[in-house]
Amino acid sequence: MKEQFENEMKLEFLSKATNEAFARITVAAFASQLDPTIEELADIKTAVSEAVTNCIIHAYENKQGIIQINSKLKDNQISIEISDNGKGIENVDIAKEPLYTTKPNLERSGMGFTIMESFMDSMKVESIVGLGTKVTLVKSIKKEEKLEDDISNNLIIKES
Ligand code: ATP
Ligand code: MG
Repeated sequence: MKEQFENEMKLEFLSKATNEAFARITVAAFASQLDPTIEELADIKTAVSEAVTNCIIHAYENKQGIIQINSKLKDNQISIEISDNGKGIENVDIAKEPLYTTKPNLERSGMGFTIMESFMDSMKVESIVGLGTKVTLVKSIKKEEKLEDDISNNLIIKES
């Protein structure tokens, strides 16, 4: 029987704007073990970037706090939990609506959650006012298409 592929990693860093790129690139490097396409990797990077930016800007409002990322790989699926101990969200359903933002003056478009939801297979937002917020993102990396790609790549190599 084929052994199940599983892996897990945890990251903890300060809510500084420069750490947004650190988080996005680190999660992408971890996700690359699932052999994603460039598009799938770009989707993961964008979603992580939106979630981490929210922690920096909204949860801690540019004060220093801790952001944690816990990511798991299982078979062909990645799950990414991004959590903060910041101010929390009063009404998650309203916050998730497209164009809803509490900081319109800071050139926020209110599209972060909508982007996370559309670029990943699922998004769960759990929040308690005064305690913090946890966003869980899940995406499956398609295997069938890659098999076809591999076959056609092989043919090209053999033909040339
Ligand atoms: P954009 O992401 O387009 O720059 P935005 O950050 O305001 O704008 P969303 O990412 O969709 O839009 O978030 C919607 C709202 O949810 C935010 O304006 C903020 O009030 C709240 N929010 C989101 N994440 C957090 C968080 N980690 N802690 C506290 N509030 C949050
Ligand atoms: Mg946002």
